[in-house]
Amino acid sequence: MKVKGIADEYEFIRDQLCENCGLKGTYKMQKQTLAESYVGMFDIVECACSECGDQKDFLFDVTGMF
Ligand SMILES: [Zn+2]
Repeated sequence: MKVKGIADEYEFIRDQLCENCGLKGTYKMQKQTLAESYVGMFDIVECACSECGDQKDFLFDVTGMF
């Protein structure tokens, strides 16, 4: 998804359901990596569920943010 700022990323992650335990808003940001490719800039955010420890990566299109 396309985002305008880091606040959008936080908001998106807060709305996610954990795929493992099914709880909402339990994913917490662990690591953020900026990746540049020929199609644009991407933010890879590694998250882990604070309840069950399930790990999930979210990819955000931040092209145009810079
Ligand atoms: Zn979970």
